[in-house]
Amino acid sequence: MLEVGDVRGLLLVLQPESEDTPTGIKELIAPDGTMVVADHVYQAGDGDRLATAEGQTVLAIPHNAETDALEGNWLIQIASGAGRFEIWAAADDDGVRHVDIVVFTSEIRVFQTDLESRFEQALQLLGFELGTLELHLAEMRDTVDEDSAFVDYAVSSSGRDGAISVLLYEDVVGLDGKASVPGTLGAGERGNVIALEDDAAPLIIAHEIGHFVGLLHPVDGGGSDFLESTPLCPLDTVLDEPLSCPGSDNLMFRHITGSSLTDEQRFVIERSVIWHP
Ligand SMILES: [Zn+2]
Repeated sequence: MLEVGDVRGLLLVLQPESEDTPTGIKELIAPDGTMVVADHVYQAGDGDRLATAEGQTVLAIPHNAETDALEGNWLIQIASGAGRFEIWAAADDDGVRHVDIVVFTSEIRVFQTDLESRFEQALQLLGFELGTLELHLAEMRDTVDEDSAFVDYAVSSSGRDGAISVLLYEDVVGLDGKASVPGTLGAGERGNVIALEDDAAPLIIAHEIGHFVGLLHPVDGGGSDFLESTPLCPLDTVLDEPLSCPGSDNLMFRHITGSSLTDEQRFVIERSVIWHP
């Protein structure tokens, strides 16, 4: 059992020793005794939550408002077969919350000042401020699609641990952007990237960072986000008449038209380990 004490949030990243040795977080016990994970089951909220970073197990805590007792000791037990295990933990702080961004692109097609201004606006919607934003040239594609959105992830190895890596493309075909849910903070990891288009609006950037801290769409084809605070809407309505759904002005709604967030979503965002004082 590993023990981590007095944190505002945790990010657990587990890499299996080999592809055919499945591994996972066997137990995760909150300071108040809540079994957040038991028997390899990711009991994120009310249901299972799968790690989207292929080959990695990634769990961000908290993922809902149910974990009240964040102070005290967390107990973590990993299953056998783990090759590498990272724990990102951070303490709370009342001051300004900065998020660092490292952007990779095949060709400089945008001004750094313009990018900084859009990331500043996006981060403000989430209650953060921009720390540093670096823009790097890298050997990568100009255009990707849904399936290949993270294909260039390895370029982020020349980035920085603790920062969000952004892969910037002329076009992400069929999508506004795509983020790892939740994202990781280790440079060069597949789960450390968000793919965005050159002209991504602040609302899109904020939505993708929302995914990166572990928030899901309130409702989509994969089900609900397990949050009590976001209203449900029948999937048919989400697909056919999205704007008639309650909560369609929510930042995490799959059609990104509004910037509102529930208190519970804000709790998850503010408790994430992506920011530093
Ligand atoms: Zn989304």
